[in-house]
Amino acid sequence: MRLLLFGAPGVGKGTQAKLLSSKFNIPHISTGDILRQAVKDQTELGRKAQEIMSKGDLVPDLIMIGIIKDRLAKADCENGFILDGFPRTTNQAVELDMLLDEMNLNEIKLINIYAYEEEIVKRLNSRRACKKCGHIFTLSQIENSDSCPDCNAKNSFYLRDDDKEEVIRKRMEIFRMNTEPVLNYYEKQGKVISINGLGSVEEVNNNLLKILNGNN
Ligand code: AMP
Repeated sequence: MRLLLFGAPGVGKGTQAKLLSSKFNIPHISTGDILRQAVKDQTELGRKAQEIMSKGDLVPDLIMIGIIKDRLAKADCENGFILDGFPRTTNQAVELDMLLDEMNLNEIKLINIYAYEEEIVKRLNSRRACKKCGHIFTLSQIENSDSCPDCNAKNSFYLRDDDKEEVIRKRMEIFRMNTEPVLNYYEKQGKVISINGLGSVEEVNNNLLKILNGNN
């Protein structure tokens, strides 16, 4: 199974990608996570990406395409993969198509998760990341705890720079301008499955599984 998880920032792509990844035993490849790790490690890529990401802008296509090329060449992608956060521009989509063609892998589906913008802004602004493991939680999940439910780090929760309201608005604008056309591109190829992102994580996941298993 080869899936592209598509949707506005904060719509729940990462959460659904993780669930699908463990269900189907294929890697979850989040370009945002790859970049955040590079920033944490202060690699050359990380130093380049840091400022761009904190402003909510897009990292240049050439860099992103290089990252995906290297990642898809790894052995764990042989039986499938879930891309989360890529492609984010039509140019990235065209390059990805060429790459998949070269690899003889053209059976892909784009899962379009949609929701109202105001709901998304509310969600993003109320999520917190763990500084140590990077796991994301909603405020209600960590209400009475001072340690990370995933890695036990103490007092490690923080609001990502790019989840602050002014940056969220900017990311939304970039999504509308640069990323939404990607949907059109895949619609023309008949590869889009759309699903409502409102509702609990379990509800969205059940609906997604029904569609993927062909019983919707
Ligand atoms: P995400 O965690 O997917 O929301 O990504 C966080 C940030 O990483 C984005 O706001 C961009 O700055 C950068 N980023 C992630 N994926 C891409 C991509 N495919 N193209 C350009 N920038 C990206």
